[in-house]
Amino acid sequence: MTIKRNVLLNPGPATTTDTVKMAQVVPDICPREKEFAGLMHGLRADLLKIVHADPKDYTSVLFTGSGTINIDICLNSLLPEGKKALIVNNGAYSSRAVEVCQYYHLPHIDLKSSVFERPDLALVEKTLQENPDIALVYTTHHETGTGVLNPIREIGALAHKYGAISVFDTTSSLAMIPIDVEKDNVDFCMASAQKGIMAMSGLSFIIGRTEEIRKSKSYPTRSYYCNLYLQYEYFEKTGEMHFTPPVQTIYSAIQALKEYFAEGEQAKWARHLRVNRAIKEGIASLGLKEAIRDELQSGLVVSVLYPDMPNWDFEKVHDYCYEHGFTIYPGKISTTNTFRLCSLGAIDEDDIHAFIPVLKAAIERL
Ligand SMILES: *Cc1c(COP(=O)(O)O)cnc(C)c1O
Repeated sequence: MTIKRNVLLNPGPATTTDTVKMAQVVPDICPREKEFAGLMHGLRADLLKIVHADPKDYTSVLFTGSGTINIDICLNSLLPEGKKALIVNNGAYSSRAVEVCQYYHLPHIDLKSSVFERPDLALVEKTLQENPDIALVYTTHHETGTGVLNPIREIGALAHKYGAISVFDTTSSLAMIPIDVEKDNVDFCMASAQKGIMAMSGLSFIIGRTEEIRKSKSYPTRSYYCNLYLQYEYFEKTGEMHFTPPVQTIYSAIQALKEYFAEGEQAKWARHLRVNRAIKEGIASLGLKEAIRDELQSGLVVSVLYPDMPNWDFEKVHDYCYEHGFTIYPGKISTTNTFRLCSLGAIDEDDIHAFIPVLKAAIERL
């Protein structure tokens, strides 16, 4: 069986290998069988290895849902009574965390700053000094909306200095940019299966300090389906998810992790960077400019400014590229017109060398 290969340059879901796609085609199984619980047990242990988390201190908890479910769960589950969350916000994904706080009426500080810059660490520290009731410091590691990489190690150190836990949205960096939870001062991180690990959408996971999850048992409960402690406890007792897991997605995630460890952390990161470099060189050769300064970039997303041409039409460029097997994606910067070219997924620089002439033709056709 041959499956048409599309090169996805959108920020996830990412291009997958055929072996990951085909891993979903398995005999029907009831996920309450011991055999299936065993598969999830192995998957949870392997997820810890990606971020070098010691299973004595950290655990991983699986959920059925897209990546945003993790943001929702961490914020609604990990805030003690009468305490505040500090959201270090320089982009669309941290703004989403602010919205979660608003929806649950969680006390929070939205420390908003320019989407074109890294957050000001001195201001983060000042805010922590002035607000001793902050119990949770949150930011997005890689702001996928712009491609800006945030300094989680430094922000995590500040959180710890002032007695708060660190919660980082690593959805678009985990399993791509090497992360070491101890060195990077990460108490909680998160991702979904369709990004860094290059599997299918529908499975998300939170990796965090077991002790903090246990403590959260006594915190106010603000959701039933999306409560971290409840799901953790169910895994501990039964090895299973509380409610129906995304069965076939889990099979593909297990295959994807095999391929992740076979490729290797450093080699995979080098491949993503190779793709990123090819994208940057390619767009520069077409005279296109970037929105974000080089030294702030993650190496995973390039934000391309709309060219200054009267008949520019992103939709038309997108559609032409799509017809030729390449998916490009609009930007998420409200004040500036951009589109994004991402280097997630099972792609390599040859794909970009094939893509750039297609993009060129698409622009010329305008
Ligand atoms: C993709 C992504 C998410 C999750 O988005 P979903 O649409 O819910 O999958 C969350 N945070 C970041 C930084 C992301 O890139």
